[in-house]
Formats: sequence, C-alpha cells, structure tokens
Amino acid sequence: MPTGCGLCMAGAKSVLFVTGVCRDNCFYCPVSRDRRGRDVVYVNEVPVGDPKDVVEEVAASMSEGVGITGGDPLLTLERVEEYVKLLKEVFGSRFHVHLYTTGTALSRGSLERLVSAGLDELRVHVVSSRSLDAVGVALEYPVDVVVENPAIPGREEFLKSLVKRLDSMGVRYVNLNELEVSESNLDSLVLRGLRPSSSGRSVEGSRDVAVKLIEWVEESGLGISVHYCPAVYKDAYQYPRRLARRALSTRRFFEVVDGGVVRWVEVGGVDLRDVWLAGAVVRLGDRYLAPLRLAEVLGFGTVVEALPTTPRRVLNEYSWCRH
Ligand code: SF4
Repeated sequence: MPTGCGLCMAGAKSVLFVTGVCRDNCFYCPVSRDRRGRDVVYVNEVPVGDPKDVVEEVAASMSEGVGITGGDPLLTLERVEEYVKLLKEVFGSRFHVHLYTTGTALSRGSLERLVSAGLDELRVHVVSSRSLDAVGVALEYPVDVVVENPAIPGREEFLKSLVKRLDSMGVRYVNLNELEVSESNLDSLVLRGLRPSSSGRSVEGSRDVAVKLIEWVEESGLGISVHYCPAVYKDAYQYPRRLARRALSTRRFFEVVDGGVVRWVEVGGVDLRDVWLAGAVVRLGDRYLAPLRLAEVLGFGTVVEALPTTPRRVLNEYSWCRH
C-alpha cells in the first residue's frame, strides 16, 4: 500500500485543499458547490487565510503528513510549492506529502520544483492520455507514483487496460476509490444511469467493479498492487481517527476524550467563593465549564458533546443523569 494511504487510514494525514479551480470536467466530480471553480484554501475543512493557519491545524491534528488536493493543485503551483517547503521546514523531512492531480498541467519544470520542495508522492487521476504522459514523466523522478481513479460501473474494460498499461510502465500502486455520491454530483450520476447505493454515500455497483478488478489482477499475475478504498472508510475510520488525534492534542483540562469527540459539563449558578468549586470550573461569560465528575458530585449539569475543532463544534447537549 502507498505510504500516503497507510497514514491516511491511521488518521495521521491532514487534508490541504489548495484550490477549487480545475480545467477538467469529470461528471463524477465530488467537489462541493461552494468550492468548485473557486480559488479557496482549506485545511481539514478550516478556511485558510495565512500559511501559518495550515501549520497550526496540522500541529493540532498531530498529523504526520498532508494530502494536497483540489481542484487541480498544479494550477496554483507557487502556492503548493510554498506549502510543501513550509511544512517540510516546520515538521521535518519525514513529514509525508502527497499530491493529487490529473497531471494534465504537469511539466518537467513543475515536477522538478515540487520534488525539490520535498514532495514524496504524486497521485495521478487518469482522465486522458496526457495523464499517462504525466505518469511516465513522474516515474523518472525520485517521487512515489500512484494512480488513483474511481471504480465506475460500466468502465471495467477501461480500468483493466489502464492497469495493464500502468503495470508495463512500472507503476507500483493503483488506488481504486469507491465512486462517491455528493450533493454536487448526484444529478450528473443519475443522468448517466448510475444510482446511489442504500447508504446514499456511494454509487451502486462501484465496490463490485473494484473487487472484480482486484481478483482479475491476482489471476493475471500482474506485479502491480491494486488497493480499494471504500467510501464508508472515510466516515467510519479515517475522519474519526484524525479527530481523535486532534482531541488528544487540544484537550482542555475539563474535557473527556471519547474517540473523535470531547465531553464536558456546564453548570449554572455555582458559588465561586467555594474554593473547591472555583478550582474545578472555568467561567466563560455566564457559563461554567467543568469536568463530568463535577456533575456527579452536584447531581446536575448539562453534558456537552462536541467535535474537537477550534472552536469546538457542539453536536449534542443533554441533562446529566446518574443512570
Ligand atoms: S479532476 Fe478532480 S477536481 Fe477536477 S473535475 Fe475531475 S474530479 Fe473534479
């Protein structure tokens, strides 16, 4: 498995979205409407105004690498180069950087700049013969080359010939994504006869395409490694694991970390002249924030459950109850 995938599965990768601009026009593009075509930057869903925002978020998430995505990151080459250099400078040479692109805007000059900035892995989404040319060029450089395409029902033969071709070129890894359904691509998918699966998260039949392709690779005896990334994996493992790392590194003394969420209790009307209470609560405006054990002692309080973002994103509030 490519290094970038291993770190991502462990929740140890931050996602750096460097631009929503892209010259390709994939019918299955999952980029949200508020980002598509717009030159905006986000790190882990947080809007970025300054490069130091990226460093802070990566540090808070205790990430061991970033995945640079878009849009097509190569359309903002200088920005990407600046981020790669900065992240390598701050977090060290072992900090892993991979970048997604269709490669249609890749040149030897741009690749040289990215590799000397510290790029570790190039992920090429093959959309045309120009993408394959980019793969060929990248194989000449000291960077891991991975091809990452969605598993689209009806495209089985295309994927087989692509994998054969990549194998003959010397590519070591192919990553097949389960084709995701999003608000922004649903109409386009349905127009092409594709249907959302029962989860509503992915396209029906996409998983079967990937599994059959992997079986075919095994039977064919090809040396290339093909990995399947299910859509549910992001929600069920990768995202909660990243949040769990962030929760541990940003935990406030009154918070309890439970996987990818934090909990605390809010109590009203406590008497801060009580020395014990004063030491146990934090006053925030007219609210008092405290560890859950305070509610156990007092017998009341409102439990707050939140994502460990900055500021905390509250998911749920409920009255504390002994049972
Ligand atoms: S290359 Fe990526 S960002 Fe561009 S249109 Fe295709 S899926 Fe969307």
